[in-house]
Amino acid sequence: MGLPKEVTITEVCPRDGFQTLPGEVPTDVKVDIINRIFECGFKQVEVTSFVHPKAVPQMKDADEVLKRINRPEGVTLRALIPNLRGLERAIEAKVDKVKLMLSATDSHSLNNANAKTFDAMKDFEAIVKRAETTDVKVGASISVAFGCPYEGPVPIERHIEICKRYEQLGITEISLADTTGMATPVNIKLVVSTLKEKFPSFHFSLHLHNTRGMAFANAVAGLEEGIVDFDSSVGGLGGCPYAPNASGNIASEDIIHGFEEMGIKTNVDLDKVIDVAKHLRELFPEQIDSFILKAGKNSDLHIAPGKQKKIGE
Ligand code: ZN
Repeated sequence: MGLPKEVTITEVCPRDGFQTLPGEVPTDVKVDIINRIFECGFKQVEVTSFVHPKAVPQMKDADEVLKRINRPEGVTLRALIPNLRGLERAIEAKVDKVKLMLSATDSHSLNNANAKTFDAMKDFEAIVKRAETTDVKVGASISVAFGCPYEGPVPIERHIEICKRYEQLGITEISLADTTGMATPVNIKLVVSTLKEKFPSFHFSLHLHNTRGMAFANAVAGLEEGIVDFDSSVGGLGGCPYAPNASGNIASEDIIHGFEEMGIKTNVDLDKVIDVAKHLRELFPEQIDSFILKAGKNSDLHIAPGKQKKIGE
């Protein structure tokens, strides 16, 4: 099928997951879960977002979390930032990479960032310049890239326009996010193939939500277009505070299991991921859900039922 042999899975539960939990998750619990995630072997973890505490109260202890987590060698710590203030906090907290937030549509952007898409990018030049004076790398996202809860389908011209602006800014690592799980394999393929052709120096990744059960099919569509970087969240935890009814990210254990069964290496320890998911399910039973938690792995073989006496025989 010409699929990649190896992919990188970025764990986003500490950001996308924790931000959607009702009430406050104690800092200690966050630190413990992030450290357990590191044990699984993820090479990149989205550890938090440096947003205004009033906008996303669940992330208000971001600076404290970063001070207290382990920092395993070779693991890239990524944080989401909305503006220059967020970058300053990220630099202070010594993250390796920041990801700029941006919505594909004006209406989602107005809800998420209080500005239309291109107005929300105004700060980006200053952010890139400031980051260049440090070791912090800058990537960016396009949220609701495959469908907006307020505007519906996003025309491909819109993605091209946004990527042109990113190109001018020198930002070439772009996360295409299906924030509300509206993507299909068909529009994943259209968007990814068009953008890869128009921006050959860019590195695109996929951030998929499983709102309508399409995430794994969409991931495979991405693989077929040569995508080798995917975000996922342990236990399927996640959502978007500004995307109504957006349910969780594709669960890390589901995407890792699926890819490994297809012969694609993820270099993550699936059993350890399942253990973290089980632990999360104990803490947040309402929010944790994945196929692998329910059904187990393909390799968890069952004892075949013996020849049983049938009733009435
Ligand atoms: Zn998300």
